[in-house]
Amino acid sequence: MTMLINGKEIATQLRETLKTQIESMDKKPGLAVILVGDDPASHVYVKGKIKACESVGVLSAEHKLLDTATFDEIASVITTLNTDPTLHGVLLQLPLPDHLSDVQEDLVQMIHPEKDVDGLTTLNAGKLFLGHKDGLVPCTPQGSLLLIKSVQEDLSGLHAVVLGRSNLFGKPMAQLLLQENCTVTTAHSRTKHIEAICRQADILIAAVGRPKMVKKDWIKQGAIVIDVGINRLDTGKLCGDVDFKEAQEIARAITPVPGGVGPMTIACLLQNTLRASSNSRL
Ligand code: NAP
Repeated sequence: MTMLINGKEIATQLRETLKTQIESMDKKPGLAVILVGDDPASHVYVKGKIKACESVGVLSAEHKLLDTATFDEIASVITTLNTDPTLHGVLLQLPLPDHLSDVQEDLVQMIHPEKDVDGLTTLNAGKLFLGHKDGLVPCTPQGSLLLIKSVQEDLSGLHAVVLGRSNLFGKPMAQLLLQENCTVTTAHSRTKHIEAICRQADILIAAVGRPKMVKKDWIKQGAIVIDVGINRLDTGKLCGDVDFKEAQEIARAITPVPGGVGPMTIACLLQNTLRASSNSRL
């Protein structure tokens, strides 16, 4: 029978561990979240992050800027937060409004690498690429790896296929799996024979943003399937990039959407904030 990987439960356990660690700290970790504009989904995500901080004893500071905010205004907030000794993590909620899309990357790179709890600066991305253990790793791939390891601790020699090559997820996920001694294939929108490649995967991870794209005949019997996608259907219901009903018939273990990777992303953000505060030299 297929095992359901309960991300909600695993994330709750991680949050409890973090809460205990934070309770014993004299100086509490602090996270600043910068939210620009009115995107409803971003508002929901930020609310969830602030609530999560409160639940484990991380101090949080929300900086809301208008939809019309300029590069200079956002840059000035980042610069101030970079030197605030009470804040150990700085998160710029993405995506930024359309008029800032060309400078989004420049703003992300302005975050001090030691406070970059999203792991998106070149220093942290480079550390992950080189296998240095002291960088901050993007939260969703970090959480996905924990879910995979809840099924099987030793991943050495397994073939992992990652669908998607974004800086936020696909690329760091591939690096983490390489560090676990997997043989890693990254597939994307130009990949040929994608179904056949997926069928070779002992671990199949989908992060493409296409509802139910991965069907039963894309999955090897007994594979571990991690569904990162969050898609809203016309009915209003959320679904992943994997056809969950079909995948259940063939996978050894699978994450649901919602209740799989999502809760792990937030728990790993808290973990990164704690890590940043432990490493802080301010
Ligand atoms: P993204 O930046 O849009 O990247 C999507 C990737 O999927 C790209 O590499 C793209 O290939 C690839 N792709 C698109 N269509 C494809 C197709 N038909 N066949 C194969 N590959 C295809 O998205 P992202 O930020 O990585 O996020 C991916 C999904 O994960 C989204 O649904 C997002 O909402 C979800 N997500 C969830 C969480 C969470 O906490 N659960 C966190 C982050 C993201 P090209 O590079 O060739 O264009």
